[in-house]
Amino acid sequence: NAPLLEVNGLSVEYGLKGHALRAIDGVSFALGTGEAVALVGESGSGKTTTAMAIAGLLSPNARVSEGEVRYCGERLPIDNDAAMRPHRWSETSVVFQGAMNALNPVHRIVKQIAEPCMLKLGMSRGEATARARELLELVGIPADRGAAYPHELSGGMRQRVMIAMALACRPSIIIGDEPTTALDVITQAQILKLLGELRSQLNLALMLITHDLSVVAERCDRMMIMYSGRIVEDGTVAEIFARPRHPYTRLLIESIPNPANGKKMIRPIPGDPPNLVNRPTGCAFHPRCPSAMPVCTREVPSLERFELGHVACHLHRASQEEKVAAHA
Ligand code: SF4
Repeated sequence: NAPLLEVNGLSVEYGLKGHALRAIDGVSFALGTGEAVALVGESGSGKTTTAMAIAGLLSPNARVSEGEVRYCGERLPIDNDAAMRPHRWSETSVVFQGAMNALNPVHRIVKQIAEPCMLKLGMSRGEATARARELLELVGIPADRGAAYPHELSGGMRQRVMIAMALACRPSIIIGDEPTTALDVITQAQILKLLGELRSQLNLALMLITHDLSVVAERCDRMMIMYSGRIVEDGTVAEIFARPRHPYTRLLIESIPNPANGKKMIRPIPGDPPNLVNRPTGCAFHPRCPSAMPVCTREVPSLERFELGHVACHLHRASQEEKVAAHA
């Protein structure tokens, strides 16, 4: 059986002042039904471009230069706006941050949830309104609050409305693009809990885009770390937290404040994130990597399999070769 979602060697470029800025470069992974995976990395690492490509929401100045996205084995026309229209929001949908900007201030929320049900599912206004009321209850808002306008709701309630809208066309995959940014800590926890509950209730695959590793540890089974447009590590959350293989992942995990051992401040990773117009040669992390070797400046490490996951680092390859030599 084909996986629910497959991304194969996907590269996306943006045209910017005469330059082609390659935001993602040869990204490959698969996602199974009901899986919860986090996409982690600094801003500019390619997380959002990956998500937008999967959801068919790339901006008009983006170009898919290589690769493909498949949903249940079928190749999606992600670079063709019109051909992508029937797929959009139906298979994969996105919960964005900042619900206030995404909701229409002059329409009642029940109407905003009902709209996609009419457009995409061909429901009558009455049917769509009934479904919108059900969806409101599903996300923990009493159906009668559907008559409210967005400004009459709290930030947490508005984000729940966004989740209801994302579920309207019965997708199999929900992407949360930093869905709790701008919310207070308690509301953040409630929204993440709701996403987790909906995932099990509706058997949804959940992809959380975040830079918050505590969210990853609590809410996801698997994590993919992105750096400079490439996936550098992919594995189970338990395994990566216990034994990060990529030096960047290790530094990210070490940077989390841990009051238990007296570490209260985030320790920033030394050096600057790479410039995408002029990426460092070889491994893009080499200017910041404490373990860099001469080969790292020349060759891009490929994402290779190890027992429980994948990692793209020459260090890992060197240690594998040593192991093979020791056994020969
Ligand atoms: Fe560091 Fe080299 Fe591994 Fe890149 S490939 S992370 S520079 S050791």
